[in-house]
Amino acid sequence: MGKTEIKSLSLPALQEEMERMGEKKFRGGQLYEWMHKKLARDFLEMTNLSFSLRKKCGEHFEMTTLYPVKVQESKADGTKKFLFELPDHNLVESVLMKYRHGNSVCISSQAGCRMGCRFCASTLGGLVRNLTAAEMLEQVYGIIRHTGERVSNVVVMGIGEPLDNRENLLRFIRMLTDDQGLHISQRSITVSTCGLAPEIKKLAEEKLQITLALSLHGVSDEKRKKLMPIAEKYGITELMDACRYYFEKTGRRITFEYALAGGVNDTKEDAEGLITLARSLHAHVNLIPINPVRERDFTPSGKEAVRAFQKKLEEAGVNATLRREMGRDIDGACGQLRRNYAKAEGGGNSAAAAKPED
Ligand code: SAH
Repeated sequence: MGKTEIKSLSLPALQEEMERMGEKKFRGGQLYEWMHKKLARDFLEMTNLSFSLRKKCGEHFEMTTLYPVKVQESKADGTKKFLFELPDHNLVESVLMKYRHGNSVCISSQAGCRMGCRFCASTLGGLVRNLTAAEMLEQVYGIIRHTGERVSNVVVMGIGEPLDNRENLLRFIRMLTDDQGLHISQRSITVSTCGLAPEIKKLAEEKLQITLALSLHGVSDEKRKKLMPIAEKYGITELMDACRYYFEKTGRRITFEYALAGGVNDTKEDAEGLITLARSLHAHVNLIPINPVRERDFTPSGKEAVRAFQKKLEEAGVNATLRREMGRDIDGACGQLRRNYAKAEGGGNSAAAAKPED
């Protein structure tokens, strides 16, 4: 059997492990603090623990630490994109965005993705595997170690479908918000889903204060099906029911993400459909001019069309923000992240990185 991965263990689980190893329970707290507050990379750094305990831990546990194998920085706005290598040599990407109100990190939840959205690059090679809680945490920790920046917001909007990896996602959220760790507030975390209706309901039961973002992108089942295969499985009515349930259980408003593709979903009728859906849920709408992906053939709506679309929503009293374009020059945009080194190097995408304005 493989060794237990220590950075995915909650504090109580780690304390238990210590006792099982014949150590004092409080050692678990010390180890936890080293890993999740001081962001230690290995046991050697944990200098207030005896050498023999560190050695014993090294024999007993495996520890995941991620190092960026490539970092790109936008000259325009300082957005940074990190390519991280996982312990099994798979690759994922993460992004650091700087805002006036604080820094935001966008992390990946899976190596690859099986949802198949037709406008997204992350899904092109299919799903390889789920990321562990440690691998999600380490994307945040690795960025902090590399940049020395503070991180106030975390969005799970990188590669992968987070609700297709629920157990690890929940563990990640609990550990990221733990006061023995980075202690990021739940309200500063956003999880984005392509719309797994039953999973949205399950997540509602956790009664977390995180923001749930639904990738809507189309206001009829017909249109959605053209863009997202998952729409074949869960229709808009079922999705809206799940979102309403989430809102009622948690009191948290849903965000609709809506990527505007020229001539596909940016007409007056689309805006009207979106208004109806957003009103029924008191949802906030986040508009994103679609980011072109080499292998896909959607083009972003023109500036005028975007502006007209947004204006229509606002006139109807729907709260709609347009994502600020960030990192235009580094291919760090929504739907452009990839798990493949060669492709990540390709640089064929010239689209803007677009992240929430909020
Ligand atoms: N699987 C999750 C999270 C990852 S994608 C989800 O689907 O929500 C994060 C956001 O980027 C989603 O709203 C997704 O639909 C959007 N996205 C994907 N490709 C895009 C593209 N080419 N242009 C703009 N947004 C895109």
